Amino acid sequence: MLYLTRKEHFNAAHMLRNTSWSEEKNVEIFGKCANKNWHGHNYNLFVTVKGNPNPDTGFIMNVKELSDIIQKNVLDKIDHKNLNLDVDFMKDILPSTENLAKAIWQQLEPHIKECKLHCVKLWETENIYAEYYGE
Ligand SMILES: [Zn+2]
Repeated sequence: MLYLTRKEHFNAAHMLRNTSWSEEKNVEIFGKCANKNWHGHNYNLFVTVKGNPNPDTGFIMNVKELSDIIQKNVLDKIDHKNLNLDVDFMKDILPSTENLAKAIWQQLEPHIKECKLHCVKLWETENIYAEYYGE
């Protein structure tokens, strides 16, 4: 079994806020991400597929095709967007790194046919990232 990863980058705004909590509790739990006037992150997205290389190409999957799938189903929908307001697949979902990684998986998985999606790793900052393996 071999693993192939495509790295992508996008920028997006969000706000983390639980409307059933007080302002103080939101700030306590979410820190700067609770800012009512929004803020942005520079996200790095790593999409890893797994499989055995096709004997004719040596590829698990054509990486250009993987890039196109990510572009069409994820980046076109979230790059330079507000995750709370603009993104159909994040509707009613708190846009934490964890929830966004899972939602990105759900966007990509149905389109990867010649091998299997293995991992979606999403870096929100240099120091924080989330990984989702489909379960
Ligand atoms: Zn944030």
